[in-house]
Amino acid sequence: MGEKRFVYMDHAATTFTKPEVFEAMLPFLKDRFGNPSSLYSIGGEGKEAVEAAREQLAKALGANLEEVYFTSGGTESDNWAIKGTAFARQKKGKHIITTPIEHHAVLYPCKYLETQGFEVTYLPVDKHGLIDPAEVEAAIRKDTILISVMYANNEIGTIEPIPEIGEVAREHEIPFHTDAVQVIGKIPLEMKKKDSDVDMLSLSSHKFYGPKGVGALYIREGTEIDNYMHGGGQEQKRRAGTENVAGIVGLGKAIELAAENLENHNEKMKKMRDSLLAGVLEIPSCRLNGHPEKRLADNLNFSFEYIEGESLLLMLDQMGICCSTGSACSSGSLEPSHVLRAIGLPPEIAQGSLRLTLGDENSEEDIDYVLEVLPETVKKLRAISPFYKPENACEK
Ligand code: PLP
Repeated sequence: MGEKRFVYMDHAATTFTKPEVFEAMLPFLKDRFGNPSSLYSIGGEGKEAVEAAREQLAKALGANLEEVYFTSGGTESDNWAIKGTAFARQKKGKHIITTPIEHHAVLYPCKYLETQGFEVTYLPVDKHGLIDPAEVEAAIRKDTILISVMYANNEIGTIEPIPEIGEVAREHEIPFHTDAVQVIGKIPLEMKKKDSDVDMLSLSSHKFYGPKGVGALYIREGTEIDNYMHGGGQEQKRRAGTENVAGIVGLGKAIELAAENLENHNEKMKKMRDSLLAGVLEIPSCRLNGHPEKRLADNLNFSFEYIEGESLLLMLDQMGICCSTGSACSSGSLEPSHVLRAIGLPPEIAQGSLRLTLGDENSEEDIDYVLEVLPETVKKLRAISPFYKPENACEK
């Protein structure tokens, strides 16, 4: 085996902050510390910076300036969209439609609303995690007040037919929210064209090379939604709280870069992903999870039979490789990932899952290194597994 490397392949969890982003933020962590609501000049500088970032964000989404609201990240944006809509529209009905493969930032607000008298339908998903727009339509009731379906799944990378689901929602005049946290810089968003039936869209800066703890919610003009944070008059009196100026500046720069580099990024990711995929699938008794084609260019999720994802993760970490698993212990629960279960993987297969998500700083050398280390590691773990018998391995 060659020399040990450090290989970060967990970009769906978070990304590094790009140097250009960091540079843009720096003045607002130092001298330009004024409160954007203050009337003297350094306050004004903060306000200007926030508004410049809003322009960058609106441009990247093809949205109007007054339709983008800064938040503390994807979790707040999802909570605001779900609970804010539910409370604003509860006189019209208390039924919500979502999917069982959403991030917990959508699922848990829905679970909370169930304790408050709301009813939630969790749509069926196929074996690749795809939602059928016809199933969305079939689930609509007279009292449906919100539909929320994620743009692409964070675990298995499957891309959902959002424009088509939006069309169904619009036809029935039901507000439509999508969690787009995983798609910025990967799928172009056009709120006035292709995505014109999306009413609310969540995003989070640390998934596209911006800082953590800052995100945004797009809210189409005219959408009925209650405020979520109550207090000062920031964000057009709809999201209270002194702005995270440096974070917002970072988000603005990061989304500008992400939109500019989208095509190159996808091309580079696809090339690396495909060689990684081909190499990993040579390991016996291994399968790809998620849709084979309709998936994010940087996402791979595998299941290796007869091993624990947790053990695999720890051994890869010792070799300098950072990735993640949907197996039980790492998520702090007894159940394996709700996404892998929802697509029908039996628990013993879901337990052996590994997610590799590529990013900007990865190189062909990283792919070669993972393809050198991973098969050996799987072999070692299977050698100590009481269930593994080489004659049962399914060769490809
Ligand atoms: N939604 C999805 C699809 C995500 O992947 C994540 C983060 O992993 C979130 C929401 C939560 O975002 P944040 O970490 O900014 O709260």
